Amino acid sequence: MHPANLIDDIRTPAQTSTWKTTDLPTLAALPVAARLEAFGPLPDALLALLREGAVRLLDSDMIIRQRRLGDVALPEIEEGASTELRHDESALAEAVLEQIAQQGLADHFKPFMRSFIRIMFALFFTPDQYERACACLDDGYHFSFLMSDAGGPTLAGWQSVARNDQGRIRLTVDKVWGIEAHREGMAVIAARLPGVFFPAAYLVWPEQYRSLRRVSYGEPFLDGRLQLGNVNGEVEVGAGDRLKIGGPTVFNKYLTIVRPFFVRALMAHLEWLASEGRLTLDERAGDAMRFIADAARQQTRSQVYSFGSVQRVLALKFASNELLSGLVRSGAVREFGDERDLLAFSKMEGSSYRCYHELRTSFKGV
Ligand SMILES: Cc1cc2nc3c(=O)[nH]c(=O)nc-3n(C[C@H](O)[C@H](O)[C@H](O)COP(=O)(O)OP(=O)(O)OC[C@H]3O[C@@H](n4cnc5c(N)ncnc54)[C@H](O)[C@@H]3O)c2cc1C
Repeated sequence: MHPANLIDDIRTPAQTSTWKTTDLPTLAALPVAARLEAFGPLPDALLALLREGAVRLLDSDMIIRQRRLGDVALPEIEEGASTELRHDESALAEAVLEQIAQQGLADHFKPFMRSFIRIMFALFFTPDQYERACACLDDGYHFSFLMSDAGGPTLAGWQSVARNDQGRIRLTVDKVWGIEAHREGMAVIAARLPGVFFPAAYLVWPEQYRSLRRVSYGEPFLDGRLQLGNVNGEVEVGAGDRLKIGGPTVFNKYLTIVRPFFVRALMAHLEWLASEGRLTLDERAGDAMRFIADAARQQTRSQVYSFGSVQRVLALKFASNELLSGLVRSGAVREFGDERDLLAFSKMEGSSYRCYHELRTSFKGV
């Protein structure tokens, strides 16, 4: 049993007068910046990145609804009820992070992703699922986490659907951009359930996965070490193959835990690129990078899951995305391959648009 309502060490401080502003770019950045303040005072360079990013992402509806801060009280930065998500897998991620800092991401990307897989197994698999999945990994099967759907980002449009056909579950799969998803392996596949607002997660074992059509897609990343693949077809899965632990928000929980580790890896990779002369990090970019790295480190030490932690992690990923794309935009990255990798990582595990959209929807003051 996990105790409920744990107190997280990381909380947004009570609001100060810092945000008494009518400057639109700063107001637009507020849903992100207010969350990041939980980690400490924001360096100017980071606030500038958030302002630019937020203004770029404002859509018509957001502009139409945007209010002046003086017109409404700044909302309480809600923390929400919390639960513990304790796992012992972070030691593996920490060990790989040290290697990334020494040698960059390319050679350590797959071991790093394996640490994420272990976190998912430990938190959301039943003992039976856990044992069987570990045996598959030991047999050399690849594991894919397939969320991005050929039907686009909105759940209602997803082509991947689970239908209960007289007690048998037929899974129609049409997934895109999965890491090494074209290879022999097993997967957790997110699917729409007709009439349900949350996606369900199904384990698809190697025998069934083999029957799906799998193709590699696009050019590889990280000096050829990371290839994406698309998967489609239809398989039958058992009722016991659905991930039940974690409840309907299983994907949110998983992403909230692994995203800050990923952000730390990206910041370590940036430092390594700079040390290799492949990236020019000026003082301001360095300030932003150190803040994000330190904030992500604080977040990975917390094993508390709450509305507040979900929001902070989205804000962190947004900040990381904006730093990466800003570096590419300014010409600080020397080689095409590195530019392309950094832009791709600004989408993987959460694009700025998605993060911003979610943060803004949950933030009542804008
Ligand atoms: C290297 C890499 C590895 C990946 N690995 C996996 C994996 O293993 N498994 C997996 O499932 N997925 C994977 N992905 C996919 C990744 O999760 C998605 O790219 C990510 O979720 C972002 O979604 P998106 O690319 O659709 O972009 P988004 O930017 O989120 O765009 C989605 C939609 O939002 C709208 N939108 C975007 N920007 C704006 C704007 N400014 N204004 C208005 N509307 C806008 C558009 O309708 C757009 O089509 C990977 C991607 C990369 C690059």
